[in-house]
Amino acid sequence: MVTDYYEILSVGREASTEEIKRAYRQLARKYHPDVNNGDREAEETFKRISEAYAVLSDEDKRRRYDLGGASGDLFAGGMPDLWQIFESAFGGNPVGSPGRAGPRQGRSLEVTLTLDLNDVLAGAEREVTYTRPALCEHCQGEGIEPGTSLNRCSACGGQGQIRQTVNTFLGVMTTVNTCPHCAGAGQIPEQLCPACQGQGVAQRRETVTAQVPPGVGHGDQLVMRGAGEEVPGGLPGDLLLRLAVKKHPIFTRRGRDLEMTHQISYLQAALGDTLTIPTLTGETQVPLPTGSQPGDRLAVAGEGLPDKNGGRRGQLVVNLQVVIPRNLEGRERELLEELARENGFEPPSPHKGIFDRLRDSLGG
Ligand SMILES: [Zn+2]
Ligand SMILES: [Zn+2]
Repeated sequence: MVTDYYEILSVGREASTEEIKRAYRQLARKYHPDVNNGDREAEETFKRISEAYAVLSDEDKRRRYDLGGASGDLFAGGMPDLWQIFESAFGGNPVGSPGRAGPRQGRSLEVTLTLDLNDVLAGAEREVTYTRPALCEHCQGEGIEPGTSLNRCSACGGQGQIRQTVNTFLGVMTTVNTCPHCAGAGQIPEQLCPACQGQGVAQRRETVTAQVPPGVGHGDQLVMRGAGEEVPGGLPGDLLLRLAVKKHPIFTRRGRDLEMTHQISYLQAALGDTLTIPTLTGETQVPLPTGSQPGDRLAVAGEGLPDKNGGRRGQLVVNLQVVIPRNLEGRERELLEELARENGFEPPSPHKGIFDRLRDSLGG
């Protein structure tokens, strides 16, 4: 199989070393395993582009490859380490960033995602819009006009540092300073990127689609790999979605179970009934046993929430609240008073005051 390294990196056969490096950096940022959650296909692509870069960035290997060398001969001493290839391409400085740091990673950004219990029940797909420092779309974070090249800085000879030797009365002193001309990069662009003035980054509104699995909890976190801050010459940070589950007007969550309070009349409590109870998705019928007491709990299996790790839904727990009427009127009162007398108890008249009642009971 003939591997076309130029095609893999999408560069022309005449591409300069700088262009090849830029092309690799763009692709490596996209396919790096750290920003792809270990996706196998991305990892394979990352290996392929790294191999292509290892050949085309090395003058000797590239010449031999152009003459028809096969990859087996080019890597006679064994394939170089993927991370070394990556670091060699990212270790240099993007234009305008001082210092000589190795590959770095952008910061993580945090966004709160508000859900309700129905999202917890079924899972949810949500579009999340946020602002992040992102690579300039025109130059892909390189800071220079695409198609132009970098020239070695004449002030520091490409070293990025300027060494000064000064004679003082204490002797000869040597100081090393970052080259002010190239800000330590060692190279000066022919032409800065007009879109970002060489900064390489700009604030950008982004929209990602988050898949919220069923059973998540308040305060849980979803990680969107690579959706955080983008930095030139490094990997993007992550976007952390902090989940907030809104309080429900009826149901209180206890792990996988839901709890609610339901009012029943003293007649239902005494005689039993079939209750219609609201659920997250509608309503359900629950038998109320005869002789139910205030504070009794009914459990409805399968009407709670799912577990994050799968398995059956929890239960809906119904706390019974027995309502005693404050003012009995008419027929209901008559029937109850009659029942009371049959039980050997004379109910007080509702229309008499406390002193009348006291006098009645003393036989006065
Ligand atoms: Zn310089
Ligand atoms: Zn730019």
